[in-house]
Amino acid sequence: MLRTFAVALLTLVAFSTSAQTLDARVAAEIPSLLDTYRTLHASPELSLQEAKTSAFLATRLRELGYEVAYPFGKYRDPNATCYGVVAVLRNGKGPMVLVRSDMDGLPVTEQTGLPYTSQNAGVMHACGHDVHMTTLLGTARVLADLKSQWRGTVMLIGQPAEEIVRGANGMLEGGLYEKFGQPDFAIALHDWAALESGKIGYRANAFMAATDSLNLVIRGVGGHGAAPHTTKDPVVLAAETILALQSIISRERPPLEPAVITVGKIDGGTKRNIIPDEVRLYLTVRTFNPEVRRQVLESIQRVPKGLAMAAGLPDDRAPVYEHLAEESVEATFNDAALTERLAASIGRELGAANVIEIQPAMVSEDFGRFGLGGKIPTVLLALGAADPAALAAGTQSGLHSSKFAPSDPSIVLRTGVRAAVSAVLDLLKK
Ligand SMILES: [Zn+2]
Ligand SMILES: [Zn+2]
Repeated sequence: MLRTFAVALLTLVAFSTSAQTLDARVAAEIPSLLDTYRTLHASPELSLQEAKTSAFLATRLRELGYEVAYPFGKYRDPNATCYGVVAVLRNGKGPMVLVRSDMDGLPVTEQTGLPYTSQNAGVMHACGHDVHMTTLLGTARVLADLKSQWRGTVMLIGQPAEEIVRGANGMLEGGLYEKFGQPDFAIALHDWAALESGKIGYRANAFMAATDSLNLVIRGVGGHGAAPHTTKDPVVLAAETILALQSIISRERPPLEPAVITVGKIDGGTKRNIIPDEVRLYLTVRTFNPEVRRQVLESIQRVPKGLAMAAGLPDDRAPVYEHLAEESVEATFNDAALTERLAASIGRELGAANVIEIQPAMVSEDFGRFGLGGKIPTVLLALGAADPAALAAGTQSGLHSSKFAPSDPSIVLRTGVRAAVSAVLDLLKK
């Protein structure tokens, strides 16, 4: 009995020592990671324009001893450069783990008032991809130092164009797995404004929605603003269309199946007294169930056509529906077994109370593409970034908001690096 107790005690001591060691090791990196984070935060670049960001990341990873390929990847559009970064560290025979960070910022004018606020007017790291890159660099450094504790291969990815869900495809179509091998697991962290800093959130199976990017061109017959009866006003028709689209959600979608239709941008007209010839609507559509996805997209083609007909427009002035396949992606699923495994290993590092199950979200991601349609187990984890008091008061700014910033970057980065390193160490343990 005593002996069992002694063994248990020894195991506990050994375990907590190694946990402290990783935490202490990560804590020592925080001052330099905070510098990196502020530098990245101040210099965001839009999707497809991540030239400086990716060069920065590639240089740092090369300095850490990783074999780096950059810029890596290929878009279908020959005029666009895919600024992907691939950094590989080989450490003997064993599995390969892919760890991804995205790199792009958003067209948002920052209003955080932070001393290291964006220096690129109208562009902001409002989705926290600066946090992800910094976490990746911290993870890279610690894993390079702890080579004696793992075996196999680490493949770190700096992915461009996540916000328009094109970057993962760009890197895969550029031959990522053909050139560097196919990983056995793929993981990523995304900061989460609905979760407190210091915590990691996980969700097995359906986690993020499918996204479809659509344009609707509502056509009319233009003319004088004072003589609407001699025209077919596309502005009025666009207004009717926007409201009717919401009825697809309330009346056609099965109520237990989540779906969102948002018209995020409207373009039309030149002057108050001119009725234009057309109005352009820019939509994002979110769904989980592939059948619901198909139905909703079909309705978005049918309803505007019916309204145009009701307005008396001829068939050749019917609305034009454009689906942007390259900016659309299926729902993100987390492999259930891998999710459980990582939640447990990260829980041992951070404490089980800091690793919690969270709800799925209607946001979207192209990270799942790295799983090749379920062939490679993938898990996207949530990295808490919210201020607990603001979260409780309902005043926490969300991702993509001009006021979003992680509440305390040092806690978020420390949690992110500890989580990523402990996940990789578990997957590549000797
Ligand atoms: Zn985003
Ligand atoms: Zn994001």
